[in-house]
Amino acid sequence: MPFVQSPPELGNQYTSDRALRSYLARALPADVRAGIEPELTAMGELAGGELYRFQLADRRNEPVLTQWDAWGNRVDRIEVSPLWREAERIAAGQGLVAIAYERRHGQYSRVHQFALAYLFTPSSDLYSCPLAMTDGAARALIEAGNRALIERAVPRLTSRDPREFWTSGQWMTEASGGSDVGLTETVARRENGGWRLYGRKWFTSASTSQMALTLARPEGNPAGGKGLALFYVETRDAQGRPNRILVNRLKDKLGTRKVPTAELTLDGAPAELVAGTADGVKNIAPMLNVTRTWNAVAACALARRGLALARDYAGKRVAFGAPLAEKPLHADTLAGLEAEIQGALHLAFFVVELMGREEAGRAGAEQKSLLRLLTPVAKLLTGRQVVHILSEVIESFGGAGYVEDTGLPLLLRDAQVLPIWEGTTNVLSLETLRALEAVGGLAVLKREIGILLRGVREPDLVRISAQVERAVEQAESWLSAAKGDALEAGARRFAMTLGRAVELALLAHHAQWSLEEEKERHTLAAARRFGAHGVNLTADMNADDSRRLAGDRSNG
Ligand SMILES: Cc1cc2nc3c(=O)[nH]c(=O)nc-3n(C[C@H](O)[C@H](O)[C@H](O)COP(=O)(O)OP(=O)(O)OC[C@H]3O[C@@H](n4cnc5c(N)ncnc54)[C@H](O)[C@@H]3O)c2cc1C
Repeated sequence: MPFVQSPPELGNQYTSDRALRSYLARALPADVRAGIEPELTAMGELAGGELYRFQLADRRNEPVLTQWDAWGNRVDRIEVSPLWREAERIAAGQGLVAIAYERRHGQYSRVHQFALAYLFTPSSDLYSCPLAMTDGAARALIEAGNRALIERAVPRLTSRDPREFWTSGQWMTEASGGSDVGLTETVARRENGGWRLYGRKWFTSASTSQMALTLARPEGNPAGGKGLALFYVETRDAQGRPNRILVNRLKDKLGTRKVPTAELTLDGAPAELVAGTADGVKNIAPMLNVTRTWNAVAACALARRGLALARDYAGKRVAFGAPLAEKPLHADTLAGLEAEIQGALHLAFFVVELMGREEAGRAGAEQKSLLRLLTPVAKLLTGRQVVHILSEVIESFGGAGYVEDTGLPLLLRDAQVLPIWEGTTNVLSLETLRALEAVGGLAVLKREIGILLRGVREPDLVRISAQVERAVEQAESWLSAAKGDALEAGARRFAMTLGRAVELALLAHHAQWSLEEEKERHTLAAARRFGAHGVNLTADMNADDSRRLAGDRSNG
């Protein structure tokens, strides 16, 4: 018999996730944790078992667009894959959006929701994408305070009944600009007492949604972002026909191939204003804050899935006389990934906690400022971390990692979207600078880091605390010296430095707690390793060098 390698397998994705369980043990009161643990255990079992097997079997199925019926009617029907149909049923039934609005556990409801979403996401081929937008739409409608739209849409967006449940799209990007949405060309016209939208949306994921929030420029409004208004659109009319919305084609994408990302023409689509005839970018911001948080949690979740598979494989694959897990260098490679994942997890869930506190009316001004500042930071940093981690995960399988029917390449391809949509790394780095201005500088972050590090006693953690504080001070002095182009050119490394400093501070805080309460040195090891990877990226920034190295079109 020739040699046959046993494939990697997954166990219960909750009970085997030491970092998540340890985090929840600290972050949640005991009664809340005990109350949600059965759901987490069941979701962990599903995600590592039946749903994972379904995902592997469903690998080749993709959404299919049918534009015409047999008789020449334009129907624009999109059939999603069997896995996605099941994912929708599970997501509604488990309340993956609803939990945040039912608020059974008060300020901890967001942690409850996102812990479940974290377990669910990697086995659903990013069904988290429509869920994120659905959650974001509910939040944006509630914040806009439009009674009629809240009554019509929010009960459906937050329903636990799969027959009632609606998802929402978020149609912002146009061919003219995804980052610079001020270039939006879609026009809103008053016709017969209502609004009609005319234009082309260039990337619309969740194109099977029943509704969407979108930006358009009411005729006569000025150019730029200020002149855009936020509109509510239902995608089908009462007879189930497309509501003057044409699906031109589905995108042929590197990854997220289960996500039906479409190009749409709005050909007089009936729409309703959400909140006034201008300030659409401002009014859609609550939606973006929610979707960016989902993005950060999805990044941690995909990274964790990759490492869980790599770990299992390392115990099975033998090279040079021993399983890879026993090879010091292979083990060291995986250890570095574990440290980065733990940092990402703590940052993403810190933002989740802040969001939950704010929504439950339990956040003071400082915490609101922190949320404003750390939402873009968490999205941009975790988005970059996950791509790096999953690239290493693929390599850790050798050639098998590059072969499609192992189901592994999918992880990396899907992860690559996380730094792009919901604001690219650069765009969110500039957003971080704006957020800093809005919250009055770094003082609030420094105070929070001080609080996190106050109880640290373990000598290595004391040293790590000094590293965090030094990195923030260096970033701050770079910020106060940088002007104009130099400020913009350094924004990404600055934002990453803040993010890495907060991740390390959270790791140190948790490590001290875990040493005392759990008698565990696992997070301590993660903090040490993460610190060794480095925090401060602002050293030696030189805008002239950047310009020289970036080159121009005449320079290959
Ligand atoms: C799979 C997928 C699904 C998507 N789904 C949706 C969706 O449902 N709804 C939706 O609205 N959009 C969606 N998008 C679009 C996505 O949000 C945009 O692609 C993204 O915001 C970037 O916009 P762009 O493609 O126009 O790139 P551009 O804005 O042209 O950016 C190109 C590059 O320039 C950089 N850049 C831009 N401005 C600056 C600056 N000032 N300084 C430095 N660098 C800058 C960017 O970081 C980027 O690297 C989706 C995209 C993908 C890939």
